[in-house]
Amino acid sequence: MKRILVLTEVELPSDFPGGQIEHYLGDLARVEMRMTDFEGLKSQFRDVRRGGQIRADALLDYLEPRVRGGYEGFDKIVLVINDDGYVEGGLNFVFGVAKIGGALALVFTKRLRGGEQSLYHLRILKEVLHELGHSFGLDHCTDPKCVMYFSNTIEDTDRKGPGYCQRCMARLRSLLR
Ligand SMILES: [Zn+2]
Ligand SMILES: [Zn+2]
Repeated sequence: MKRILVLTEVELPSDFPGGQIEHYLGDLARVEMRMTDFEGLKSQFRDVRRGGQIRADALLDYLEPRVRGGYEGFDKIVLVINDDGYVEGGLNFVFGVAKIGGALALVFTKRLRGGEQSLYHLRILKEVLHELGHSFGLDHCTDPKCVMYFSNTIEDTDRKGPGYCQRCMARLRSLLR
């Protein structure tokens, strides 16, 4: 049983972090959520030349070694960051980042906003499950309905998930065991 800690700046419905993440991970993980803010941390990675966007890759590289090998007994740490992220020299914006097999998943929520609050929360759930999938070892999936499909646009996010396709779920089950 893997233990996941979700640290969030965004208030999430009480059934989301525990109930829903666990549900979509096939009940192979236990999730705990804590509200926090990352202002101090974010200020170190803000790019003023880009309107204050956060350098997602640099933040990930900074935090990853600090949580690798377990943080307070958790296997994976998810940061839900109420901001906009990008990847230097690659992606103008990202909904999230994680390394394949890494200990950390970052989700950036600024571009997930819009519409009903429930839609916003669903998008966050999808991006959390996507980045967690990477952290557990999954790569991108070619099935546009699968949560591991790469989202280039918010429409991609709205089309996919929140579930993993059969193939990804089977792989996840073997990885999580
Ligand atoms: Zn991805
Ligand atoms: Zn898939």
